[in-house]
Amino acid sequence: MMNGTQYVETLKKLKPRIFYRGKRLENPYDHPALRPHIRTAAATYDLAAGGQHDEVMTATSNLDGAKISRFTHLFWSVDDLIRKIAMLRFIGRETGTCFQRCVGLDAINALWSVTYDVDQAKGTEYHQRFRKFLSRLQREDLMSAGAMTDPKGDRSLAPWQQADPDLYVHIVGRRPDGVVIRGAKTHITGAANSHEILVMPTLGLPPEGADYAVACAVPVDAPGLSLVFGRQSNDERKEEAGSIDCGTEWGVVGGESTLLFEDVFVPNERLFMAGEGDFAGSLVDRFSAWHRANYGGCKAGNADVLLGATALLAEIHGTIKNGIVRDKLTEIVHLVETNFAGAIGSSAMGKRLPAGNWLVDPLLANTVKQNVTRFVYQVGRLTHDIAGGLLSTLPADADFRSSEVGGLLEKYFAGKQGFSTEDKRKLCRYIEGMTSVSTLVEALHGAGSPQAQRIVMLRQADLPEKTRQAKKVIGLGKDGSQA
Ligand code: SF4
Ligand code: FE
Repeated sequence: MMNGTQYVETLKKLKPRIFYRGKRLENPYDHPALRPHIRTAAATYDLAAGGQHDEVMTATSNLDGAKISRFTHLFWSVDDLIRKIAMLRFIGRETGTCFQRCVGLDAINALWSVTYDVDQAKGTEYHQRFRKFLSRLQREDLMSAGAMTDPKGDRSLAPWQQADPDLYVHIVGRRPDGVVIRGAKTHITGAANSHEILVMPTLGLPPEGADYAVACAVPVDAPGLSLVFGRQSNDERKEEAGSIDCGTEWGVVGGESTLLFEDVFVPNERLFMAGEGDFAGSLVDRFSAWHRANYGGCKAGNADVLLGATALLAEIHGTIKNGIVRDKLTEIVHLVETNFAGAIGSSAMGKRLPAGNWLVDPLLANTVKQNVTRFVYQVGRLTHDIAGGLLSTLPADADFRSSEVGGLLEKYFAGKQGFSTEDKRKLCRYIEGMTSVSTLVEALHGAGSPQAQRIVMLRQADLPEKTRQAKKVIGLGKDGSQA
């Protein structure tokens, strides 16, 4: 396994085309916009390689028995599913932000299971190919990004009905040794600092959409692939000296990119679905079930830091003993632990798939993510309430260092004795960053928008069965009438 430094060294050997604010980045991995996200991903390597957190951070490969990072591991039991959630909470608490690696982890598991199903049904050889790819990923401890979301153009039209057929990634050329793909993927967490991109379809597809049913692995520096790194709330602050106005040296949210595939060649050994649209739906469903459960782990870890920061700020304000403030902190605890319980529950209720790995309970997993779309906003509101208006009006660090007004700002922003104004400002900035529009919208739409969960929830809730049960328990139709 690599440590964080080795991970960054391996990135620096790559030559990806990464654009940011109108320019191609010559040394993307040294750029201040990317550095915090790389630092966060590197922490996942350090925590696994250090040997002190093996129970959550590492696992035994079911491919060859080697000790590997849990981020390249197949969920081989309920215990693995639970440990994954524990790992996400742990790293979420260590870094206080998104550490980006879970999308690739869930993509690995989705591809493992669906390639197996496709081969069983159609006699293809995708699973063996994927197994080889995964072996290398485990052996070299590589970071992979999961790329599922297409731009989607006019959402009332199917992919092949769009005015521009490239609005969903699709196969534009088939050759004996592979395929050529074109299109884009958006909002791809951690893509810029991953070694590999795992491309997956975004929806189930009928036969006329077969060319859109493509799953494959593309190196981040493959010819024809460009990445455009997105902007975030407060991103210019990363380029200022020090990190006080950022509130954290870690990234805020996952460092998302738009991926542009301009006729990228994918050799057969990296191709894991090429037209089997009838299996694309289960790939999406499984990937999203795993990924939606995650949010009860990582967001709980982040909220641990947020809760601690809010409580500390209340102490500096001198309000921590106030019963109303304590009740608001209790409400945060309630929201966070409710969701963590859901993530653990969906893992505990997991079921084994034909390929051998285990899937979380989809109803509970989708409920977790649905809760996140509300709870993260509610937690944010409570932290804003306790922290006060400073979150939106605090002067810049440079003003506190000004020879003319810095001393006065120090005087007037003082809180409880024993705390510096710098501590107070750092806490405010962390809360600001972790409840910013970027963070909230990520919680709303990351791993699928709220409506996507509601569709699965109603489907999984099995209303016909529940109606039958209601009839039985209440005793409808006992007199022979149709109830
Ligand atoms: Fe992992 Fe959470 Fe970030 Fe998604 S939002 S990549 S689950 S840390
Ligand atoms: Fe996310």
